[in-house]
Parts: sequence; structure tokens; C-alpha cells
Amino acid sequence: MSEHQVRAQQVRVTEDELIVELSEEDREVQAMIIIESDHPQEVQIRVGTRNPRLPGPLDSPRGPVGRSRWTRERIRTRRGPITLYYQEITARIIENARIRVHGDIDIPCHRATREHLTLLEATFRLVPPSHLRLVNQRKPQGFLLSNTTGRGANISYMGGLNPRVDYRSTPHYNETQLILITYGALWENRDLGICPTVLHEIGHVLTHRGEINYSHFPEERRRQLAGTRTSRNPGALEALCNAYMYFLCYASSSPDVQAYGNRAGDIQRDRVTRDALRRCPAFTRLLDETWRSRFAERG
Ligand SMILES: [Zn+2]
Repeated sequence: MSEHQVRAQQVRVTEDELIVELSEEDREVQAMIIIESDHPQEVQIRVGTRNPRLPGPLDSPRGPVGRSRWTRERIRTRRGPITLYYQEITARIIENARIRVHGDIDIPCHRATREHLTLLEATFRLVPPSHLRLVNQRKPQGFLLSNTTGRGANISYMGGLNPRVDYRSTPHYNETQLILITYGALWENRDLGICPTVLHEIGHVLTHRGEINYSHFPEERRRQLAGTRTSRNPGALEALCNAYMYFLCYASSSPDVQAYGNRAGDIQRDRVTRDALRRCPAFTRLLDETWRSRFAERG
């Protein structure tokens, strides 16, 4: 079945309605199942960008696009001052929802709009069931959408984070039990229909016990990847998590997403890196035959 057929079968229900709304047919076609536990509430959120020349959520698609429409925020870092950009908008936020993926895996998602939940659902579909179960074990509170990640000199309106500390600013949540995704990250690749940052952060969860690791990479490739600076975050695992992110996109049945996951000449998404990932436990013992065939080399 194509993703387009699946997409037509959307089921959006509140907690109480779940049982009655889901017909046998819905279950069979693996409908998009989003369970909203709270009503949407209007909330001010900040949507960041890496590129202030691109239109933001405040720009109408036909209206003027200008730098001035992004709010600038200067912060001091050890490497000198940098400028961050965001737009503040009013969004209809659902505090608690769950997305059901692959039939029986529920992923909790907090502070998302319906549009965000649709992007997250399409993103989770790219992740093998065994990987999502590890996310639920290691990050039982799921995904929390947020204006920013990090604090002080590390603050960012972009990307995501597997936090090591519980933020005091959000007493409801224990950040060590969840994955943070910025609204900017969801905005950045919305035309792709998925959020690559979510896949990158799931990659970090799979590095905890080595389900993905560098030991299956050729020596030179390992050195290159470990030394690649992918963002303000200098960690040696950043490029490995990007490689995981691109590999999941490569296995997508959507041509655009697949193309995004494949670029000869980019060490994070070329064949050498894919072949090394295929030898990692995440893609050997954690996958059944069907999923393993999805990750096979194409064409
Ligand atoms: Zn990372």
C-alpha cells in the first residue's frame, strides 16, 4: 500500500472517543491515529530559523519577505557573540497527545499543534518498531515541543535535545525522561512532510547502549564523521546521529524524503556510511526481514 492511500485514512480522536471511532477497517490500513488528551489552547510560541532570508510563519506566502520580520536575539558564547532569529506566533497547542504507530506503539507528544502532530506521525512511520520501543523505554515521557533547547550560552531556537538535566522552568515535565524538539525544527523541513531532527534525536537514544555505533565503520570514515561539526554542538556522535537520520529517510517510500536521505559526496548520507550502518545492531538483530529489506541499497 502506498503512503498516499494510508494518508487518506486519518483518524483524530479524543481519549474518550478512541474505542468507538476506530473501525476494523481503520485498524487494517494502519490509519493515522492521533489521540488528543486535551483541547487545543491558544499559546504564544517562538519559531526559530537558521536562515532569516527565508519566509517565517508570520509571512504570508505571497506577501513581502524580509529580514525585519524575524526577531533577532544576540547571545554571548565562548566563541563570541552570535545572533539567533525567531518569530513569535499564536498557535493552538495541545498539551498532551499520543500518536499510535505501527499498530500498537503509542508515543506521547506534548505541546504540539495538529499540524505538528501530523508531521510527527509521518516521521515516526519511518522508524522501525523496535527502535520506537527503545525510545519508549528510555524516554518514557515521549516528545516535548519547545521554543528553545539548552540554557545560557547553549540556548538555541533550532534542533532538538536529549536533556541530561530536568529544567526548572517546566515543573510538569522531567526533561531527562523525554526528547525536546524546537518549533523551529518542525518549521524548517515542513515541506518535506517530516521532521528530520526527530530522527536525529532518536539516533542519540540508540547510541546509549550501542545499537548504533562507530565500530562497523571503516577507520577513515569513522575519523571523518567523529570530527565533523554539524552544529554548535561539537559532540563526536552528532554526525553518527545525522547518518542515522538520513538512512531512515533513504528507506522512505516518498521520493522527496528518499532523495533527502541520499547524497553522493556527503559522508553522512552516502553508500559507505549506509553500508556501515547496516552492520550495526539497530539494523541487524533489531529488524525483521520486512524492515531489513526496506533498508537495502536501491537502484
Ligand atoms: Zn545531536
